[in-house]
Amino acid sequence: TLTSPATVSSFEVRPSSSPRTVTERAAVLADLRFGTAFTDHMARAVWTVDEGWHDRRVEAYGPLQMDPAAAVLHYAQEVFEGLKAYAHPDGSVWSFRPEANAARFARSAERLALPVLPEQDFLDSLRTLVHTDVEWVPTTPGSSLYLRPFMFASEAFLGVRAANRVDYLVIASPVGPYFAKGLKPVAIWVSRDYKRAAPGGTGAAKCGGNYAASLRPQAEAAAKGFDQILFTDASDTYVEELGGMNVVVVGKDGVASTPRLSGSILEGVTRSSILTLLTERGLEVRERDIPVAELIDGVRSGEVAEVFACGTAAVVSPIGRLAGEGFDLEVGGGEAGPVTEWVHRTLTDIQYGRAEDSHGWLTRL
Ligand code: PMP
Repeated sequence: TLTSPATVSSFEVRPSSSPRTVTERAAVLADLRFGTAFTDHMARAVWTVDEGWHDRRVEAYGPLQMDPAAAVLHYAQEVFEGLKAYAHPDGSVWSFRPEANAARFARSAERLALPVLPEQDFLDSLRTLVHTDVEWVPTTPGSSLYLRPFMFASEAFLGVRAANRVDYLVIASPVGPYFAKGLKPVAIWVSRDYKRAAPGGTGAAKCGGNYAASLRPQAEAAAKGFDQILFTDASDTYVEELGGMNVVVVGKDGVASTPRLSGSILEGVTRSSILTLLTERGLEVRERDIPVAELIDGVRSGEVAEVFACGTAAVVSPIGRLAGEGFDLEVGGGEAGPVTEWVHRTLTDIQYGRAEDSHGWLTRL
């Protein structure tokens, strides 16, 4: 049985009067997809200019009442986060570097003129929700409880200015393993017609608008038979990131390169953790501007041994094919390479409690 110890929390629990039965829950947990099923509760809090953060609670999951003039529906003043809770063999439940997500949430909020949620409230909301819905944390290999904190402008007002009322919520979704059997290489289309972000824009923030802008290019790439888009910078010179993952390039010479935090890419928690692990493994890690032309030449010549994408959902996704206008190349023989495999195993071993957490990356929920 899973355990999450009750701790002092500023979030008051109001249990659902109609949680699903044990049988209903078991049916959901036996057939996990990504982001389609949700637990019985959600955490929430309200912020107003006059009162600051208040009304912190965990209550029954359900539809929101929203005024049609709520600013988020018009001007997209919204930010979100994504992280997971993992069940360990001893029944305890842990999250991976949630303080980093709290910090990124705060940076995103600042960029979108939303109020900063204190780290303690962020952690309390996750902990109280997981404690309340602990039976929803899946225990099958590679599965986890995906946590989605988000914040939006709920003030009913059509003027274009930062809202005076904001809602914060956390919902939780049990998810299965991203790769059911072995790492599956993905095919990537390098987008040059569409940009995800530009200097001074919102690329470094996790705001809904960035993802809305990525849907059209993503759909066009999917129609051509590709899994994901690789976006380039506004000048069309450098590699940036995928729609929802960072990118790492591993050279034959043992150097791992990843785009530096230019202000227009998202600072991934997985990216930062992987850079630490690769350094410890003895690779030279470089955060730098990677010219698209250099990547293409390197893949073609074999100087580039492996390319992988990384993020919370899949941990790592090997890139087996890289194509764009005028080129279509196989990467690393179209297979997951040894560094990619090692990174995936090392990181998931820590997350699932199979290896010692020597970096102090895990927080018990
Ligand atoms: N880039 C983008 C645009 C993303 O949406 C994500 C997912 N949050 C990432 C990178 C990877 O970030 P993380 O490792 O924190 O999941």
